[in-house]
Amino acid sequence: MAKKTAKKSKPSKMVYYFGKTKTEGKGVGKDLLGGKGLNLADMTSIGLPVPPGITITTQVCADYYKGGKKLPKGLMDEVHEGVATLEKELKKKFGDNKNPLLVSVRSGAAVSMPGMMNTILNLGLTDESVVALANATNNQRFAYDAYRRLIDMFGDVVMEVDRDHFEHAFTAIKKKYNAAQDNEVPAEGLIELCSEYKAIYKKYTGEDFPQDPMKQLELAIEAVFKSWNTTRAVRYREVEGIRGLLGTAVNVQSMAYGNMGQDCGTGVAFTRNPSTGENKFYGEFLIDAQGEDVVAGIRTPQPVAEMSKWNKAVYKQLLEIKDTLEAHYKDVQDIEFTIEKGELFMLQTRNGKRTGAAAVKIACDMVKEGLIDEETALLRIPANDLTQLLLPSFTPESKKNAKVLTIGLPASPGAAVGALAFTAEEAVERSHAGEKVLLVRKETSPEDIDGMHSAVGILTSTGGMTSHAAVVARGWGRCCVAGAGEVEIDEKGRKIKVGGKTFKHSDIISIDGSTGQVMEGSVETSEPKLSGDFAKVMKWADQYRTLGVRTNADTPKDSQRARDFGAEGIGLCRTEHMFFEEDRITSMREMILAETEADRRAALAKLLPFQREDFVGIFTAMKNLPVTVRLLDPPLHEFLPHDPKAQKEMADMLGVSPAKVKSRVAALHESNPMLGHRGCRLSVTYPEILEMQVTAIVEAAIECKKNRINAMPEIMIPLVVTAAELALLRAKTEETIEKTKADKGFSGQLDILIGTMIEIPRAALTANEVAEYAEFFSFGTNDLTQMTFGYSRDDVNTFLPDYTRLEILPNDPFQSLDTSGVGQLVEMGVTKGRKGRKGLKCGICGEHGGDPASINFCHTVGLDYVSCSPFRVPIARLAAAQAAIRNGK
Ligand code: PEP
Ligand code: MG
Repeated sequence: MAKKTAKKSKPSKMVYYFGKTKTEGKGVGKDLLGGKGLNLADMTSIGLPVPPGITITTQVCADYYKGGKKLPKGLMDEVHEGVATLEKELKKKFGDNKNPLLVSVRSGAAVSMPGMMNTILNLGLTDESVVALANATNNQRFAYDAYRRLIDMFGDVVMEVDRDHFEHAFTAIKKKYNAAQDNEVPAEGLIELCSEYKAIYKKYTGEDFPQDPMKQLELAIEAVFKSWNTTRAVRYREVEGIRGLLGTAVNVQSMAYGNMGQDCGTGVAFTRNPSTGENKFYGEFLIDAQGEDVVAGIRTPQPVAEMSKWNKAVYKQLLEIKDTLEAHYKDVQDIEFTIEKGELFMLQTRNGKRTGAAAVKIACDMVKEGLIDEETALLRIPANDLTQLLLPSFTPESKKNAKVLTIGLPASPGAAVGALAFTAEEAVERSHAGEKVLLVRKETSPEDIDGMHSAVGILTSTGGMTSHAAVVARGWGRCCVAGAGEVEIDEKGRKIKVGGKTFKHSDIISIDGSTGQVMEGSVETSEPKLSGDFAKVMKWADQYRTLGVRTNADTPKDSQRARDFGAEGIGLCRTEHMFFEEDRITSMREMILAETEADRRAALAKLLPFQREDFVGIFTAMKNLPVTVRLLDPPLHEFLPHDPKAQKEMADMLGVSPAKVKSRVAALHESNPMLGHRGCRLSVTYPEILEMQVTAIVEAAIECKKNRINAMPEIMIPLVVTAAELALLRAKTEETIEKTKADKGFSGQLDILIGTMIEIPRAALTANEVAEYAEFFSFGTNDLTQMTFGYSRDDVNTFLPDYTRLEILPNDPFQSLDTSGVGQLVEMGVTKGRKGRKGLKCGICGEHGGDPASINFCHTVGLDYVSCSPFRVPIARLAAAQAAIRNGK
């Protein structure tokens, strides 16, 4: 679903201040201040310790691009003014040679995009002010550590100097000074490092590192705006369906230093566990470090619970702030904080990304705690995220026998089994080719985003629970084990070494994102059990929703599964799938090859018992619930082989010449089979197909009734274009029902409804006429979208990705209903249909029936039910409840 934010008209004010002096951002909104900017202003105004700063609006970012990538006129004047206020409030001066003010420069769009855009810390340091900072803090090591970070980040982000150059220099210095960790390098080593960094900077940019802090700031602001449109940021928005934003805001915030020594630190935490939802403060911190060290996964941090051993008072204060924030936002918060010489500062808060399981538990717990009501709880759970709860996990039995190679951090739950891919590109390629792969990386960077999305799971050897890999994977419900330090990765050799064994790219391993276990080979998985909080959410959903939820299923097993997930019937049973099985396809082909009606009937007579048995199974699984059976739909050529070898085999099997098969295949060839001889057109030409299918349905229903099973079939005629066509086929269906009843000597009630699919614009336009012959309509929005757009539903991948990328279309109309175009036909179909027949039952059975945004639309136009694949049934129940709450019952 596209996340939308309204576009506002251009404001005159470009910069908003937050701090003790004044907080201007209140009431301005996320669209302009971005999530981070708004929440910084918010936290400041509720009295939390936030280093003061300014936020440059997202509108400025939009204007920057509109103006040909130039900072708008007057912006830097407003920035100067903001900095002046900051200087007064903090009694420090930007670029001062006594007590210099340093700032961080960070991005922050209206929808959070963790790690996708750029950040620069310690901005304002120069050769002169670094000396002043060392003197003012009496800490030379700290001052030069801050300076080397600035040159590195500024070089990378603003001037695009490859970070590896800095990294190599740092490794050499660490070696020289015998330092295992970054923070063990002494002051003189860092002074040396700063000189080397400046030399690297000059070598690769051709310029000296800028010594004017205001110039640094201007360039940094521009770099953040540029980062809005990097490939990785654009790709992230595409994958997440984030559209319609103005751009990113820029937050310029005075620095709090976590790297001044052992009484300083920095951390990231969630107010509750984002993987499981457990109401336990959850996070990590690093002593003597700056924020980026934690999120980039450079050093492995300590769990936040350990903090009380280090600084009890700060830990207590942090716990209080956690409660204040949850009470304020009434949701789980993802926070970033820094401790400078024992003083706590909040750098960020935002609603925490969480897994589907966590979303369910948190929503239920918060209702219990009285923080939110049931309606809010239902709206809080992204319906699509329930998929994650319906995913398999490893069976306890197979886990007992599994060989555990190592245990990493359980960063994002789930069970993933796959071969090993060592780069994002490789993961994408092999996944597209149909292989299941795990993306194995030392640490993932945001550039790996495509590979992470393609892979079934992610395994990293460094990085903590809040590393980018973990945050992004959790957001997607992708299984992830992070920080598995014992896994030695040889990217070039495409192999890993772990637990004393070597695994190459084609070898399979299994990872458990709920425990962090990395296991040898393919460990067996099982379906989830749905109870407890999940059942509670489903119960609430059923109380609020008015839309019925059915399933698209054509086997007893799928029917049963859907029923277990809460389906209230079958909205679409596609009968063609029943003809493809080994024991039926031969008779089907015989029927297609038949030259006379008598031969066709003979072949159909062989198919009838199979069909009847299938229906008995499905009606039994769905007893007491309606089952909409759709008559044969696809063009007949789909049942015939197209290559000569298979044609010869088929000819031998049927005792005919290969030439006959070939000529029938040729005769059935159509230029546009989707617009050709399919759907009800087959029954018009070959009424005996309809007769056989209707007979099988009725015989199965009678057999069920005899066994005291209440079968409730409904017969659905597909691809209708005109009322006359349906009138003809309805009469034939009624006649067959009566004949079958008579043949079987059945005199009881069957009450079989006869209806049609609305899949063609003309049927929707003339719905009042069509409804005269239909007791129900089911909108087949797959075909309706195809026919309305004129896009072949099977071939859209050739151009559709360009259409969504260029925002010509807001999203793929085959996934999410085009409410403004196709939606009009649906609405018209319902309205006109009900004019033609009072109380006409209307549903939807295209793929859109399982898409939350489309379900919302179905609710608003008054459909009676949606029908979707079994695994989407719980999603549809929740989405239907959300639609009822949002739009009023
Ligand atoms: C449809 O067209 O939406 C539909 C459900 O039918 P099918 O996908 O089988 O064509
Ligand atoms: Mg269709």
